[in-house]
Amino acid sequence: MFITDYISDVFKGLKSLGKGMKMTGYYFTHHKEIITMQYPENKATLNLSERFRGEVVMPHDEQNEHRCTGCQACEIACPNGTIKIITKQEITADGKKKKRIDKFVYNLAMCTMCNLCIESCPSDAIKMAQNFEHSTYDRNSLVKVLNNPDSRLMDGVE
Ligand code: SF4
Ligand code: SF4
Repeated sequence: MFITDYISDVFKGLKSLGKGMKMTGYYFTHHKEIITMQYPENKATLNLSERFRGEVVMPHDEQNEHRCTGCQACEIACPNGTIKIITKQEITADGKKKKRIDKFVYNLAMCTMCNLCIESCPSDAIKMAQNFEHSTYDRNSLVKVLNNPDSRLMDGVE
């Protein structure tokens, strides 16, 4: 019957509201148990999960050296063409011609953070960083060159 169904729904609604308000009241008086993080107020103490993937980066040491040989394994492994490796030929100290990386171009806008490039790299040259504030008005700014200007391949990495 319509009227009994209607009254029953009203009581169910009130019961549900009471349940929600009880929970709100509990956390109002138990601040320390709140696990919701207030962003960006908590930026300095932000605690991201270790597994969080925000951006592919190429670490360099204090001598501006990286571990990327330009082998292109990451470029091949990337399922959507996010990485473009541009190489050049260099003459080593012993007069041999060697392929070296010129530019490691990474299009953050296309990256799905699948991690395949990092897993495929034989020399541990790239890793995931946890930056996540990537919003921009210019999508071209998301196309990045990961090797620093004037950087070079670390000795001993082939
Ligand atoms: S994380 Fe995945 S999508 Fe992003 S560059 Fe690496 S392989 Fe490509
Ligand atoms: S990052 Fe690794 S896989 Fe990619 S080109 Fe450099 S050495 Fe090769």
